[in-house]
Amino acid sequence: MNETLNPFEITQAQLDKVADLLKLEPAIHAMLRQPMRELHVSLPVRMDDGSVKVFKGFRVQHNDARGPCKGGIRFYPGETIDAVRALAALMTWKTALVDLPFGGGKGGVACNPKEMSDTELERLSRIYVQEVGRILGPERDIVAPDVYTNAQVMAWMTDEYSRQRGYFVPGVATGKPLAVGGSVGREDATARGSVYAVREACEHSNLNPSECTVAVQGYGNAGSFAAILSKEMLGCKVVAVSDSAGGVYGPEGLDPRAMLKHKQETGTVADFPGGTRITNEELLELGVDILCPAAIENVITAENAPRIKAKIVAETANGPTTPDADEILFKKRVFMIPDFLCNAGGVIVSHLEWLQNMSGDRWTAEQVQVKLQHRITEAFHDTLRAASLHETDNRTAAYAVAVTRVAEAMKVRGWLYSYMCPGLDAKE
Ligand code: GLU
Repeated sequence: MNETLNPFEITQAQLDKVADLLKLEPAIHAMLRQPMRELHVSLPVRMDDGSVKVFKGFRVQHNDARGPCKGGIRFYPGETIDAVRALAALMTWKTALVDLPFGGGKGGVACNPKEMSDTELERLSRIYVQEVGRILGPERDIVAPDVYTNAQVMAWMTDEYSRQRGYFVPGVATGKPLAVGGSVGREDATARGSVYAVREACEHSNLNPSECTVAVQGYGNAGSFAAILSKEMLGCKVVAVSDSAGGVYGPEGLDPRAMLKHKQETGTVADFPGGTRITNEELLELGVDILCPAAIENVITAENAPRIKAKIVAETANGPTTPDADEILFKKRVFMIPDFLCNAGGVIVSHLEWLQNMSGDRWTAEQVQVKLQHRITEAFHDTLRAASLHETDNRTAAYAVAVTRVAEAMKVRGWLYSYMCPGLDAKE
C-alpha cells in the first residue's frame, strides 16, 4: 500500500470525506480545505558561540469563525509548513468539537531545542514574537506549548508581546507558569482529558479499567501524565512505555512516576531497570487493552495496523494514525478515540486559563477538573451519537460534529455572501 503521509493532505482527505457525508456547501468546503492566513518568517538568532543562525518559523491561522485562533507552537527539527497547516486545521476541529469559543491556529519553528542552550531558546522565543506578534493577541490568536516548547517558552513569549504593547498581556499565551497567570491544572490537562475519554470508552466497551493493561508511546508531558493518571485515576496496569530512544516492557506493571524520575535523571525511559527493553514498533503491537500513542504523527500505518491488538486506541498525540490504518482498525472493531477529542484537555484548560487572565480571577484545581471533565465527556457522547447517526467511524463522526459547528458559524456570519462580496445577498 502506498500511503500519502503528508499531514496536510491527510487532514484535507479527512475533511473531504466528511464534506461528502454532510453535503457541505462547496464554497465552505473549499475555504475549510485551506488556512485563512499564514505567516512565514526568518528568525536570526545569535548563538552562544557568537555565530548567527537563521531559523525558519511559521504561524498558520486556519479558521476564526467561532472565535480567536488558538493553538500551540512547536520547536521541532523536521518542522514543515504542511505539518503546521495540518495541526492548525486540527485545532479548528478540536475547539469546535469541545465547543470552545475559539478557532484554530498553530505555529512552528524548524530547530532542535535539544541542541540549544536556554539563552539560545530564549532569544529564539523572543524573536519569534517580534516577527509574529503582529498577528497574535488575546482576541486574535493565542499561543500555547506543544512539542518541545513549555511553560518557560510561554513566559518569554508573553513578556516579549507585553513589551511590544507596553503593558502586561497574559491572555496572549496559555500554558504559562503560575507566576505569570498560568492556571492550576494546565500541566497535566492533556493527559487528564485523555484519561476521562478512556474512562468513557471503557464503559462503552464494557471494560473494567482496573483490569486493563496500557501501553504508552512517548514520555513527554502528555505521555508521562497519561501513564501516571491512567494508573492513579483508573487503576489501569501500565505495562509498557517508550520515548525516542526506545521503550521498556514489564508485564507485571511498571511504576509511571519512577519512570518519569528515571527519564528526568538519565534522559530516557528505555533503560528503566523495572522491565525489559523493547522498540517503539514492538510497543505498538503489544497485546494490551489500551494503546496510547502520545508522541508524533503517522506511527500507526497500513503496514503495522493489521498487527495492532489493543481494544482501545487513545490518540493523545496529534495525527498518530494514517487514514489507511484508520480503515483497518475500524474493520477490526478497535475503539478509536480520535486525537482532536482525546487530547482536547490541553486546549480546554487553556481556555480556562485565558478566561482567568481576561477576568483577573483565580480558580482551584477542583473547579478546573470539573469543567474539563464535563467538556470532554460531552464531546465524547456527541461523537458517539454522530457515529451512530451517520453509521461511521469515530473520527469521521467527530469531524461531522466539528465541521457542522464551524460551517454554521461561517454561514451566520455571512462570510460567503455579504462579507466576501459586499452588495450580494445569499440568493444571488
Ligand atoms: N498544543 C496543544 C494542542 O495541540 C494545546 C493547544 C492550546 O492549549 O492552545 O491541543
